[in-house]
Amino acid sequence: MTCTDFLSQLTDFFDGVVSPELLAEVEHHIAECKHCEVVLDSTTKTINIYRDHELYEFPVDARERLRTTIMSKCYGHSHKS
Ligand SMILES: [Zn+2]
Repeated sequence: MTCTDFLSQLTDFFDGVVSPELLAEVEHHIAECKHCEVVLDSTTKTINIYRDHELYEFPVDARERLRTTIMSKCYGHSHKS
């Protein structure tokens, strides 16, 4: 799994719609890639903040903003596992 693969799966990951196989790949990737580990950690915190405020439906525009931010941060990052 590459960083791009990881990022493209990230929203599905948080929606809980990933297969056990994909989950294992994601976990394997973040174990080896500090960059994506940080992304996952900060994204988890962001989503938990939303949940703490009882906005269980993560807003689509916020999701898109998050994805755009993550993608721009990851641009040029060429680590592969
Ligand atoms: Zn990565």
